[in-house]
Amino acid sequence: MLGSANADLVVAVERRPAGGETVLGGDTVVMPGGKGANTAVAAGRLGCDVALVGAVGADQYGSLLRESLVSAGVRVESVRTSDRPTGIAYITVTPDGENSIVVAPGANSDVSASDVDALSWDGVSVLVCSLEVPLSTVEHAVAVAAGHGVRCVLNLSPVTAVSPEALALLDPLIVNEHEALALADSFEGLLALGPRSAVVTLGGRGAAVVTPEGVVEVPAPAVDVVDTTGAGDAFAGALAFGLSRGDSLVQAARFATRVAATSVTRAGAQPSYPRADEVLA
Ligand code: ATP
Repeated sequence: MLGSANADLVVAVERRPAGGETVLGGDTVVMPGGKGANTAVAAGRLGCDVALVGAVGADQYGSLLRESLVSAGVRVESVRTSDRPTGIAYITVTPDGENSIVVAPGANSDVSASDVDALSWDGVSVLVCSLEVPLSTVEHAVAVAAGHGVRCVLNLSPVTAVSPEALALLDPLIVNEHEALALADSFEGLLALGPRSAVVTLGGRGAAVVTPEGVVEVPAPAVDVVDTTGAGDAFAGALAFGLSRGDSLVQAARFATRVAATSVTRAGAQPSYPRADEVLA
């Protein structure tokens, strides 16, 4: 996995302050997050042999993120300690459940092509990239990985203008429904952007797998939803694990919808990700 690691600092507020105003909130809750770390933890907890490529600061949040990764079985030898502070997402939550988020990327901005060039690709079968780290680093990683015969997956959230060369190497491009419709008129239309395949996550409706042969809908199991935070990252991590063990893209998407559906029945992002024996049938 190549991507971000952030500490999520969450505070409940009655309402958001206007400019120049101060409001009091509840106690700060600190949770490990960031799309790259979440995706790696999702795969690691399922039993996948996975490493995160990223950066954190030499601070308490960096330690928290490393501990969370290690406890999920994620290798952290390519998580560099940067001179910059660990990335932080400042999240306020109002009683209606709505989030407002400010992300200070910090060390994530520092993940560079030289981090990619330091990697060994022996035994690597799948590279998953997410954004929140510099786009040029992601594009470089995709080119290098593909050159080593590694299957490349990109979770394009938020929608960002990726080079045609990098898009052409993706198998699949992952987007949610909202992102898909920002990119193309139809799910089939995503392939016109260049990827070999695409997977569109559809929330409680599951996912759609798009290949040149057509679109296959993969329904999600019906569950009692507790918290959907990080569901998309659970999906990406599980999909990558499926692909790495030789599943077809549709098989991997079926597995990923079950893993992500399991995660939405529990609170939080990383803490909600299931072990293999906990995944809903
Ligand atoms: P997030 O931003 O919350 O991480 P996302 O917008 O990237 O999510 P979604 O399409 O909302 O992604 O959800 C990802 C996957 O999570 C879905 O494909 C599905 O497998 C699972 N999922 C999400 N919501 C539900 C739900 N209500 N019931 C069952 N599964 C769900």
